[in-house]
Amino acid sequence: MSMSHDPVLGVEELLATLRESEERFRTIFESAPVGISLLDRDGRYLSVNPVRQQMLGYSEAELIGRHYLEVTHPDDVPLDQAVNEEARLLQTDRYQLEKRFLRRSGETTWARITIAIVRDSAGEHAYSVSIAEDITAQRAADEERNRLLRREREARNRLEQVAAERDAILRQIGEGIIIADPAGRIVFVNRAAEEIHGLPRNPAGRLYVERYLALDVDREPIRPGRSPLSRAAIHGETLTNVEWIVVRHDGSEVVAEGSAIPVVLDDGTRLGAVLTIRDVTAQRRLEQEKDDFLSAAAHDLRTPLTTIKGHAQILRRRLSHQQPVDVDALSRGLERLEAGATRLSALINDLLDVANIQIGGGTTLARSAVDLVLVTRRVADDQGVASERHEIHVESNRPEIIGFWDPVRIDRVLSNLMSNALKYSPEGGIVRVILTRDDGHAIIRVSDNGIGIPAADLPYIFDRFRRAENVAGRIAGTGIGLAAVQRIVRQHGGTIEVESEEGQGSTFIVTLPVDGP
Ligand code: ADP
Repeated sequence: MSMSHDPVLGVEELLATLRESEERFRTIFESAPVGISLLDRDGRYLSVNPVRQQMLGYSEAELIGRHYLEVTHPDDVPLDQAVNEEARLLQTDRYQLEKRFLRRSGETTWARITIAIVRDSAGEHAYSVSIAEDITAQRAADEERNRLLRREREARNRLEQVAAERDAILRQIGEGIIIADPAGRIVFVNRAAEEIHGLPRNPAGRLYVERYLALDVDREPIRPGRSPLSRAAIHGETLTNVEWIVVRHDGSEVVAEGSAIPVVLDDGTRLGAVLTIRDVTAQRRLEQEKDDFLSAAAHDLRTPLTTIKGHAQILRRRLSHQQPVDVDALSRGLERLEAGATRLSALINDLLDVANIQIGGGTTLARSAVDLVLVTRRVADDQGVASERHEIHVESNRPEIIGFWDPVRIDRVLSNLMSNALKYSPEGGIVRVILTRDDGHAIIRVSDNGIGIPAADLPYIFDRFRRAENVAGRIAGTGIGLAAVQRIVRQHGGTIEVESEEGQGSTFIVTLPVDGP
């Protein structure tokens, strides 16, 4: 080992200098605000300054001779070893790491360590200096911040989840729901509301009438800001059961009924508004049809009443004038009265049908053995007398066709079909009623050569209140008879079909099982 020093200096001076530098080092070592330790090349403590002693919670005496890994937090030992190994391989004499020490008390101290390797004149690792800065507080602050961030993120996720759950629930609800912000801009549309408006979901923040074409009940376009949703959102109005018309993209119209309420927090903050909306198109149509039906029925009832009244008056006059009573004329007059009464009772049955009331109570059939041939001839006679321009021909492949049916209702089926055949062949002609019996079934075919049914109306002709386009406004009627006929036939387990061509005539075909079900 070669010693080299300034040859000008004497030994005394050299020693003095060394003492001086030693003292200076000592001073720094003792009073430095960072933890300093010296370690031998194996990593054992040679000396430890007061700050470092505090950091580790051991006195210098307790530390000297111990390996630094003994006071390193076990979880950080692998990291520490790896960093050291890397420095050795790369021959770096100064490096840093952040690690934890395990204090005697069991607490943890976080430190940022700077290691400097001091080499002797031969370049050999003589000892190392470790300077440690206590970053426990900083770490704790970081951790606290991360914890808060995590908490905040969790809270936000939870909120988003709650919002998603709310959206999912609102979306499933059968009632249409639209939510707007305080400016009236749409923020949420549920599925039922989408269906009513015939549009796919579009979260764009627009006003109700900017997204949907809406008319008020007078068919005037609703102005922006005047829709129920906007009025509730912007002006804080509460609107209940408002009706308006939605014109869909495809031009079809929906009658909508809705209520809009402003959403306000306890502290008065306005959040917007919620609109609930229902499609009342079918309901309104039914109401309209009922009104039409009632006025048609009132009109229809007057006709047979006038007939009855007229003939009754004639008969009374004859009798009161003491004129000789012509039996033929009398019985013709009585026949007219009877026909009028029959027509009246058919109409009353129709009216009862509208109210879903059945003669004989409810929907149960009063079955008994019925001869279809006999009943058909009687009904044909009743109907026939009412018209001078028509003939009704009844044909049957059997002298009698017995079935187990409700006679009152079978009568109604036949009367309805025959009176329609007469009514809808205004030019007169022959109405044919053909009865056949095959295995298990009786088949009734009622044909006329009247005005027929337009193809467009044919599929709906058995619907309640439905009347074909070629009769509406021209021939009196209510649109109830065929619906009633179909219901009676189905109650008996049978079927009804129609074949018709406009201007050519119509054939109604009823098939009834002959035995009870
Ligand atoms: P209404 O005769 O009172 O209108 P219906 O229910 O009996 O009611 O008949 C419904 C519609 O079916 C009629 O309005 C008419 O358009 C059509 N219709 C029924 N029977 C015939 C027929 N024999 N010929 C032509 N159209 C018919």
